[in-house]
Amino acid sequence: MSINLEVPTKFKLLVDQAHQVALGVFRPISRRYDLAEHEYPKELDMLAALVDGMNDSGEQGTGARGVRRSNDTEADTDGVRNGGNLSTVLSVMEACWGDVALVLAMPRQGLGNAAIASVADDEQLARFDRVWASMAITEPGAGSDSAAIRTTAVRDGDDYILNGEKIFVTAGARSDAVVVWATLDPSKGRAAIKSFVVEKGTPGFTVERLEHKLGIRASDTATLRFADCRVPAANLLGSPGIEAEQGFAGVMQTFDNTRPLVAAMALGVAKAAIDETRSVLAGAGVTVDYDRPASRQHAAAAALLAMEADWEAAYLTTLEAAWMADNGRPNSLQASMAKAKAGRMATEVTLRCVELAGDYGESSLLEKWARDAKILDIFEGTQQIQQLIVARRLLGKSSAELK
Ligand SMILES: Cc1cc2nc3c(=O)[nH]c(=O)nc-3n(C[C@H](O)[C@H](O)[C@H](O)COP(=O)(O)OP(=O)(O)OC[C@H]3O[C@@H](n4cnc5c(N)ncnc54)[C@H](O)[C@@H]3O)c2cc1C
Repeated sequence: MSINLEVPTKFKLLVDQAHQVALGVFRPISRRYDLAEHEYPKELDMLAALVDGMNDSGEQGTGARGVRRSNDTEADTDGVRNGGNLSTVLSVMEACWGDVALVLAMPRQGLGNAAIASVADDEQLARFDRVWASMAITEPGAGSDSAAIRTTAVRDGDDYILNGEKIFVTAGARSDAVVVWATLDPSKGRAAIKSFVVEKGTPGFTVERLEHKLGIRASDTATLRFADCRVPAANLLGSPGIEAEQGFAGVMQTFDNTRPLVAAMALGVAKAAIDETRSVLAGAGVTVDYDRPASRQHAAAAALLAMEADWEAAYLTTLEAAWMADNGRPNSLQASMAKAKAGRMATEVTLRCVELAGDYGESSLLEKWARDAKILDIFEGTQQIQQLIVARRLLGKSSAELK
């Protein structure tokens, strides 16, 4: 038995629009920008302007800004609220059914934008309103263990001076600004890590090089360097003090909002592969019968049913994590569960679809989707790291107790 949740009526239009964009804008240019790695998909400019317009008109969850948690008490009075996190998850999923790499390349919809929406104060939110922001945490010596970062920020009058190197920054070359994680004092561990918005053109900030990748090739992945880079203190997101674990909890809070978004991307690309495979199988005379046990159907039909069930589990977990965010409930556990489940499901499902469709894979987008899906199980915390977080939460262990 499965539970089918209907998309809330107020989000139907948004989801339909995202589907039209996926079908009419992304799919036709998917292969082109997969082949032409590092060429900017100029078709995205008009689309980004459209999303800006929707945001300006107060449309909920049309982009990265949708993850901002509101302080109002609607949730307390209504009991249930379907807000910006849920609608962002639903529209991102639909858009990624078209092309996940192009969604990651969308101007002003970077992970840095989601970070700003999550933790910036109102003044900063207004100031960085039209800025396209990427997110720079990873360093050559610090990936999964983000507390080990070595980029430093030293206070100097009204500024901070940043020094360090960041790698694997999605949209790092094309974005207007980067949200950079740096430590105020490497000896103070997690508590001293703060995030700073550093705008392009700031002296001392350079883009060093771009990666050549297996998947999401329409999205640029850059190495950035900060050499005595002076950043206004007003660009620090969150509190400037070094308060025990609390400070780190602030920057980590971004992940509670962005992990469900990455899970949504995984759901989108996996759905694309399942839909395509269903139609390839139908063309070969294999149809799925939803009223008969899988064990009494064609092996390929049974495989499709198993993949759909796996997808559904990831979908419900993701909706729960986003819904909790909308309702002001702590969702770190659910956000990590959603990211782990959806990331693994998408890598397994997209590869299985290539297998099922046989040599058809090369002439369709199926093989591309299998390549694109892999990153969704890596960035914003790998599969293993999400499992570690889930285990810590369930067992009540700290990060020092369970590594
Ligand atoms: C295409 C792409 C885009 C990216 N975009 C961004 C971005 O925009 N911003 C950004 O800051 N970063 C970005 N990243 C970096 C990404 O978040 C890191 O690659 C990821 O966090 C893993 O870090 P790592 O590569 O250093 O691997 P490592 O941390 O070295 O991990 C290697 C392996 O060991 C496992 N492992 C590590 N620690 C543990 C543990 N304690 N227990 C069990 N297993 C463990 C990991 O799961 C992994 O399988 C991007 C990466 C790629 C490839």
